[in-house]
Amino acid sequence: MPAPDFRRIAEQHQDEIVALARALVRIDTTNTGVMPTGNETAAAEYLKTTLAAAGITAEIKARVPERGNLFATLGGTGGRTGLVLASHTDVVPAGDEAQWTHPPFAGVVEGGRLHGRGAADMKGTVAAQAMALILLRRFKAPLARAVGFVCVADEEAGGAYGMGWVALTHPDRLRAQYCVNEGGGTFVPVDGSDWCLLGVGEKGRYEVHATFHGRGAHAARPWQGDNALFRAAAALERVGAYEPERDVSGPIFPHLRRVVGPMTPANVDDVIERLTPAYPRLADHCRQVSRMLITPTLISGGVKSNSVPDVCRLTCDVRALPHQGPAVVEERVRALLPDAEVRIDCTAVANASPADPEWIAALSDVLGRVLGRPAAVVPTISGGFTDSRFVRELGVPAYGFAPGSPESDPARHNIHGPNESVAVVDLVVQTAAYLALAYRLAAGPTA
Ligand SMILES: [Zn+2]
Repeated sequence: MPAPDFRRIAEQHQDEIVALARALVRIDTTNTGVMPTGNETAAAEYLKTTLAAAGITAEIKARVPERGNLFATLGGTGGRTGLVLASHTDVVPAGDEAQWTHPPFAGVVEGGRLHGRGAADMKGTVAAQAMALILLRRFKAPLARAVGFVCVADEEAGGAYGMGWVALTHPDRLRAQYCVNEGGGTFVPVDGSDWCLLGVGEKGRYEVHATFHGRGAHAARPWQGDNALFRAAAALERVGAYEPERDVSGPIFPHLRRVVGPMTPANVDDVIERLTPAYPRLADHCRQVSRMLITPTLISGGVKSNSVPDVCRLTCDVRALPHQGPAVVEERVRALLPDAEVRIDCTAVANASPADPEWIAALSDVLGRVLGRPAAVVPTISGGFTDSRFVRELGVPAYGFAPGSPESDPARHNIHGPNESVAVVDLVVQTAAYLALAYRLAAGPTA
């Protein structure tokens, strides 16, 4: 049987997809990172009811009752799950509501876009994943292998109530041939074709807490003290002047070489500069994935306006490439902060899944069918991090793949800023892509 036209099916269900995404945006699941917060159970319950209406049973499991994680499975005749669709229901705070054109939790649909906190990160994707499951069920797609849906809480504050907890307590829900999540699927135009950047791995994130000790004194006789601010200032200057070693070992570079010619650690910055006018997003991405980043983000020191401060505390955000482990980070950081007391916390481990050519060909084929024209899926490392790191730790290959329409500008998503929104066409394309992918990986005789 030839595969159905998933794009057309998704288009026919556009109103239902948008209505679900909109209903989810209207449920305030703001995650401040400080308990009590999140309230994701309200969104999970809404999804559970929606799935139940389509005949799909879902379960909600939670470390604390108000922070629900939802699991659903469709099809399968035993054996390994073919695909797990993963997502999160929590959102970052809306910030100053005066800066929003539409109220952040109203879910206004206007100008072909759904507006509101979480529309793009990532309730739109939650809706697309749930609708993919619902449509597979409605059309009685024969699924020899199971398709899973794991929609968790607490992604925005580290996952201790969400994917981190799920991976620890319900790992079987995540075991699949492949898992797809946010953190990739963005299109960048390159030389007349569309590249879809597939997130195969993520940079690690570390927090460096440096304390500079001096000696207090009266500010009227500062020479009797040792001003900790000056010690911190010298260190800040070293951090500002730090030139990380350039690295072109990431999976995107072989693809880039075919377009821009040789790329080495020595010329990568020149190539980035050359790419910037025509391909600013691609240039930005190359900068992210070709080096470790060390950025000072917080500083405090002193207790009184007329005292020489005896202590100054500096926090730096570090983003390390997947192969730059804690020892490498520590070595770089200590060299920059030799006279500080330093503590380094890893807040997100870096890891990567294989850029398996068969899988990449399957995704290219799926996108080609959904878009009606060829799209090259190009593996790369994500500059940020997602819940996929917990899934990879279980040995399950996990990928950032949440494609929208190549015509949409992802800069308009305004993720984590005011006026977040997502294009309706993106929700349709994404639903079609998940449908097509699930069908490709799971369809088969069920008897
Ligand atoms: Zn997200």
